[in-house]
Amino acid sequence: MRISEIYASLQGEGLLAGTPSTFVRTSGCNLRCVWCDTPFTSWKPEGREMPPADVLDTVAVLAPRHVVVTGGEPLLLDEVHGLCRDLRGRGFHVTIETAGTVLPAAGSPLADLVSISPKLASSAPPADTPGGWAARHEAARRRDDVIRELIACSPHQFKFVVESQADLDEANDWIDDLGDAIDRSRVFLMPQARTPEELAARTEWLAGECRRLGLRLAPRHHITWYGGRRGT
Ligand code: SF4
Repeated sequence: MRISEIYASLQGEGLLAGTPSTFVRTSGCNLRCVWCDTPFTSWKPEGREMPPADVLDTVAVLAPRHVVVTGGEPLLLDEVHGLCRDLRGRGFHVTIETAGTVLPAAGSPLADLVSISPKLASSAPPADTPGGWAARHEAARRRDDVIRELIACSPHQFKFVVESQADLDEANDWIDDLGDAIDRSRVFLMPQARTPEELAARTEWLAGECRRLGLRLAPRHHITWYGGRRGT
């Protein structure tokens, strides 16, 4: 499996924010979000091939007992099934971070938490992006059938990246469409930001909207703590 990086840090977002965690970041993605904060796994994917057993050994020497399998899009890789199974078998708590648009051939891997970050229309790259990525992104970004299978197999949380009222309206409609399948108490709204300054500017507005809608605010601590630097 192609791995971009493996490192220990603190989880910065969602239900497990603040938890010491090892991040296993796969490389490669089927989307091209215009604001992607890991372009080295999507726009210009880089990394090295590692057998899942080597990934497991690398994780095992690090201190955290929580592991976040993230990307890129980790569910593009069939090996993620065995990796999650073996990590859990060794006693690790496993979170899978995904956009919820694709599944491995064997279906949804089992995790202790599947963290789904659906990509709203505003995530699309510019229309003239080489490779036809605007159309490819739009065609691939919403797969409610995939989301339903993921949350049928593992406990879930949702993290919508929001920067405008239009994003908020689309996220609300999407949550309504998924209906009783999802737990609204596990739905987070996250300000779209790559720097502490952007984060501060958008958090105040979004906090008010979270109060109004009864949804949770995901503060994105890693940007505040580390400035969104790679490997943190
Ligand atoms: S789905 Fe994630 S990794 Fe892929 S382009 Fe979007 S933000 Fe980047």
